[in-house]
Amino acid sequence: MTEGGCGHIGAIEKVKHPKRRECEECVKIGAEWVHLRTCQECGGTRCCDDSPNRHATKHAKSSHHPVIASAEPGERWLYCYPDDAFVEY
Ligand SMILES: [Zn+2]
Ligand SMILES: [Zn+2]
Ligand SMILES: [Zn+2]
Repeated sequence: MTEGGCGHIGAIEKVKHPKRRECEECVKIGAEWVHLRTCQECGGTRCCDDSPNRHATKHAKSSHHPVIASAEPGERWLYCYPDDAFVEY
């Protein structure tokens, strides 16, 4: 995958998809989520910024895992936090 400006997305050869269609953090605390995102570094699936707990963004910031993919059916895109790069694939 090639994308100008972001070497993180450029380094991804195969997009990681969710193992389970649930936010692994919300499940633990009994919270609800809106959309799901899958971390392309560790493969963990967490909730989006429209969700009350924003676990995907919190995980990216605290773990320094730069790239997430949408885990929603029919959505094919990647987002890199440090480069603020959005790429459809
Ligand atoms: Zn990047
Ligand atoms: Zn969550
Ligand atoms: Zn991660």
